[in-house]
Amino acid sequence: MLPAHSLIAYALAFLPGDVFPLHADRCVAPEPSSSAWSAKLTASDCSLDSTVPGPLWQPATLRRIPVVVHVLADSSCTNVNIPDALVHSQIAVLNEDFRALAGSPGGAGVDSKIEFFLATVDPSGNPSTGIKRYCNTTWYQDQGSYWLSIAWDPTRYLNIYTNSAGGSRGYVPFLPADPAGAIGQPQDRVVINWLAFGRPGPVSPYHHGRTVTHEVGHYLGLFHTYYAGCGTATAPGCYTTGDRICDTPPNATSHKGCTAGITSCGGVPVPIQNYMELTDDACMTGFSAEQVQRMRCTLATYRPDLAQ
Ligand SMILES: [Zn+2]
Repeated sequence: MLPAHSLIAYALAFLPGDVFPLHADRCVAPEPSSSAWSAKLTASDCSLDSTVPGPLWQPATLRRIPVVVHVLADSSCTNVNIPDALVHSQIAVLNEDFRALAGSPGGAGVDSKIEFFLATVDPSGNPSTGIKRYCNTTWYQDQGSYWLSIAWDPTRYLNIYTNSAGGSRGYVPFLPADPAGAIGQPQDRVVINWLAFGRPGPVSPYHHGRTVTHEVGHYLGLFHTYYAGCGTATAPGCYTTGDRICDTPPNATSHKGCTAGITSCGGVPVPIQNYMELTDDACMTGFSAEQVQRMRCTLATYRPDLAQ
């Protein structure tokens, strides 16, 4: 693994004039850690506090989520290069990863039976490609409440925006259930740095589209595997500590690169292959069975009108 300054140098060399913000973290999704979060919870099998995996959340039926991708370039319309084909490649990556498609890079994961497709009709019922383009420097800089004027009904569509993502590789503004009532509001969205979007994306090692897989994991209720540190290693405590998931190993902190054999939390192998770590795209291969159940629960509990 290259040190961070080498990665930045590489990115700058790769894209002269464009600063790819290789922060220490891939993602700036919020990390709820206070009791204030807990106080807002409603009882469910996939609350901020706990996961209750069970037969109800097994991936039995196919759920298909319509997606609109809003491509936000600056006012010159020239600084972002995301042709339609690259958007299609990103949807293909999502489906490979969430369906654990045999033979694909995500084939080692668990099939969530959740699929994604570019919306074919807009909220008014008019035919659409599911791709919208805007040229607005403020929006490209991830400033201004652009979602208020261009979001498609977030209760019925997954809204993905590509821009500079506020200097991160991507984020969701909140996790399901907090703050209460935020789901389905215009700000309910997934934001991706265009430099980490699509396959092949423009900048290695985040060029296989896994930033979107990771952020959609948050959007469907998953924490980072290292959320809240090691937590309790065994059931039932591991459902209410750490990442609230027992079949992901305890993990103290985020990791970069693809270093096999690294350990955390007293010698436990780091899940470098899990989409909810921060490792390079190339070594990510799957969600766990209980992560899949938590996402299925989130979809049913918090986003009941989203999937078809
Ligand atoms: Zn994240």
